[in-house]
Amino acid sequence: MQLADREAAASAATSMIRALRAEGVVGVATSFVDNSGISRVKSVPLARLPQLASWGVGSSKSCDRWRFDDQIVGTDDGKTAIGDLRLIPDLEKLVVLRAQPGWAWAPASRFNQLGEPHDQCSRELLRRQMGILAAQGLTVRSAIEVEWVISEAGSDDFVAPSSGSAYGMTRLIEHSDYMREILAALVEQGIDIEQIHPEYASGQMEVAVAAEDPVSAADTTMLIRHTIRAVGLAHGLRTSFSPKVAVPGVGNGGHVHLSLWREDQNLLASGPGTYGLQAAGESFGAGIFEHLPALLAIGAPSVVSYLRLIPGHWAGAFGCWGLENREAAMRMITGSAGSNPWAANIELKCFDLLANPYLLLAGLLAAGIDGVARAAVLPDPLEVDPASLSADQLNDLNIKRLPISLAEATDCLAENSTLAKALGQPLTDSLLALRRDEVAHFANATDEQIAGALRWRH
Ligand code: GLU
Ligand code: MG
Repeated sequence: MQLADREAAASAATSMIRALRAEGVVGVATSFVDNSGISRVKSVPLARLPQLASWGVGSSKSCDRWRFDDQIVGTDDGKTAIGDLRLIPDLEKLVVLRAQPGWAWAPASRFNQLGEPHDQCSRELLRRQMGILAAQGLTVRSAIEVEWVISEAGSDDFVAPSSGSAYGMTRLIEHSDYMREILAALVEQGIDIEQIHPEYASGQMEVAVAAEDPVSAADTTMLIRHTIRAVGLAHGLRTSFSPKVAVPGVGNGGHVHLSLWREDQNLLASGPGTYGLQAAGESFGAGIFEHLPALLAIGAPSVVSYLRLIPGHWAGAFGCWGLENREAAMRMITGSAGSNPWAANIELKCFDLLANPYLLLAGLLAAGIDGVARAAVLPDPLEVDPASLSADQLNDLNIKRLPISLAEATDCLAENSTLAKALGQPLTDSLLALRRDEVAHFANATDEQIAGALRWRH
């Protein structure tokens, strides 16, 4: 950030104040997502928005090593308490929060005191990956599905607040006001909602949004989560995005949809390859597919993630891909006949919402970029549930389970030089330290204890 950029940001912020005040805004919150997937926030009175936009607010560097329970991990060099970063909001993304009266919010990027992006700022990392693609004439469009579970307030256990069936109209009726308020708030905040409905598990709901550029997709998914939580509190409900809220039953996924474009051409459609893939589209998907085991340490970042990532839960526990195959980690979606040029996308089902979405999308783009550079190709797709095949059949098809634990996924990340290069060593080191520390922390814990420890954190 140059001085001129700061001055421009201050004057843009100054010109926004009057309209924000007219909307009743008193404070502006700006947050980033840390390496454990938790939103960390600072806020200022509205009058200080120009200072916030130009010089930011201070934030400790130690946040890069904060575990899910705020413990600081693996920093024995005596430097944890030293140094400061600046959180600077993206003013173009500033919204008035409909479920938190008097507040506006904007996503922050983190900069060092020289005005350069912090080397562990996942939002700026994602922007850099987009730049690498742009230099090749490529863009990605992305969306993240949000699944969540509501529970009666007043208990740390999961207490189902409704009796309705999976996808049941009964559940939508029982929570009619709650769901309408979420929908209204999201739409008023400018989010392009595609669907909102009750999901499969007890107390589970889902919202799906339209695809946008990756940084915006990550900003949107955080705004959605903050909004859902705020509306829930007003209705006496607690919100959990944890992949396993209650140990029995299915969990919450955070499926990521991606498509690759050259100008206005979707490279996942209208081509000669399997399901209409174009060569670059297939290579992009193949890069992601090959790096999935290591990407899990980013996208399924907690010990609890692996209580969800099991066969028979539509979570994509197997390292295979296929057309509309809900048990494959990578699900190809071509859309209905005629809609393919705009609808075709790949869905990564194995990830969950404890992931930092900026970091996950940055990892996915880096993996896809690697696939394009190597002209990688996908293996044959699978058109049945992999769990229906025998061990011999899976072996013949070279289909394996994805990592079954955080420890295994972390080892895959530690061995992955492509991702380490894209993420940079400081960030990779933080991720490895945090994941290994969480594995050790839960070494003797039961599934119930693990689910309980993560249920309300994110
Ligand atoms: N809840 C499932 C999961 O954990 C996904 C269900 C669906 O396919 O939407 O990913
Ligand atoms: Mg779903």
